[in-house]
Amino acid sequence: MSKKKNDKLSDIKQMSTLLLSGATMLADSCPDCKVPLFKKNENTFCPKCGRKAVFVSSDDEVREIEHAYSFSETREIIQDILTGKLTYIAQKLADCEDFEEMKIILEILDLLLNLTTKIIRIK
Ligand SMILES: [Zn+2]
Repeated sequence: MSKKKNDKLSDIKQMSTLLLSGATMLADSCPDCKVPLFKKNENTFCPKCGRKAVFVSSDDEVREIEHAYSFSETREIIQDILTGKLTYIAQKLADCEDFEEMKIILEILDLLLNLTTKIIRIK
């Protein structure tokens, strides 16, 4: 069997599994994969690439959504970095026995915690 035919068969298999699990097949299809979109528990998604689908009515709305998505990705990256640094600095504090050094570590810890709180608050 050709690879293309095989892919199509596995697409169909996946879609029937989704239908059996209670998902609904929509009339709209994924702009990239050209397969029908599915809806389950209020989430609309492409069964092939797994991307979430959002319906928009204007170009402005497209830009707004793209902006929101790219920002949330950036925020996640920053949060991961801050979490890593917090773990590192907490370990430094645990190992530190010099008061001057401890003061510096506590100042950095305070800055990191402030930043973490701020980044969580941004919507
Ligand atoms: Zn897709």
